[in-house]
Amino acid sequence: MHLIFRPLLLELRYPFRLATGSRTHTNVMLTEIHWRGLVGYGEAAMPPYYGENHETAALFLERAAVALSQLSESFELSESSIPIILSEIDALAPGNHAAKASVDIALHDLWGKIAGRPLWQMLGVEPDNMPATSFNLGMDTPEVLRQKLLEAADFQIIKIKLGADNDREIIQTIREISDKPIYADANQGWKNREAALDLVHWLAEQNVQLVEQPFPKNDLDSAAWLSARSPLPIIADESFQRLSDLAHLGNSFHGVNIKLMKCTGLAEGFQIAKAARAKGLKLMVGCMTETSCGISAAALIAPLCDYADIDGCWLIRNNPFALPTLEAGKICFGEGDGLGLSGLVV
Ligand code: MG
Repeated sequence: MHLIFRPLLLELRYPFRLATGSRTHTNVMLTEIHWRGLVGYGEAAMPPYYGENHETAALFLERAAVALSQLSESFELSESSIPIILSEIDALAPGNHAAKASVDIALHDLWGKIAGRPLWQMLGVEPDNMPATSFNLGMDTPEVLRQKLLEAADFQIIKIKLGADNDREIIQTIREISDKPIYADANQGWKNREAALDLVHWLAEQNVQLVEQPFPKNDLDSAAWLSARSPLPIIADESFQRLSDLAHLGNSFHGVNIKLMKCTGLAEGFQIAKAARAKGLKLMVGCMTETSCGISAAALIAPLCDYADIDGCWLIRNNPFALPTLEAGKICFGEGDGLGLSGLVV
């Protein structure tokens, strides 16, 4: 099994503004696993705040390539053997979650290619349960927001980044031009519990449907305080990365945002979905700015979730793959083998 990788700088169509700063690019590493004349595609998307970059990913993937090259020719990929390989890859080094996800995604794609079937069928994913995905408007001037909304006409739900000092103004601007439901993400930006609760009540009146990560990631006490009082679901994003984090969350949040780049990929993503449901938590699937590769993988988790925010490949200029098909704001599964990716531009 032969793993290769190449760095790519994804160019954002609009600068991405958050409570914590703004950026115009996202580092990704595209991976390919070659075996028996077939290729599985994967991707590591590495926004700066999780500490991975092209150098760390290259170092990790060189080690993963050695491990994969040692698998025997008679080895069979399957739903049970993939997690075994992935736990060996996981044990190569701590961290490196996105790099690990790129191996996980490529192995799953390859498994589907070998079987000659779409992954969603092989994994028993139910397309009828696909939730509509939200479309991220970021923070911007009213003129730019208006333009973005026009471009996002196919999407039925708006995602807004809050957490600066003008949250009400941003929502009011959106409400002057659209009545679509809104997912609000404070990205750890709120400071004061009482003010946050007032704001959440007001947001509920504005047809905001959930609030993501209101307080700094380690402030679980404030999250628990707000969750106990909030009329809207409070969802953990930065406070929650991997399966093992579920144990620490207690009752701080109503739900968790699963991102393949945080949780090392599909194998653990499915495990999280099952374990979080068993705890009575709501589920959201999210993404970074990613190509169609990462987004098509995340879409496999979406039918298990209450909310989907997997619009990353619509936010970039240089997606090397064709875009997934959207219908009524929902990502559609196709008939292609594996992830069903097409149109790779090298
Ligand atoms: Mg978030």
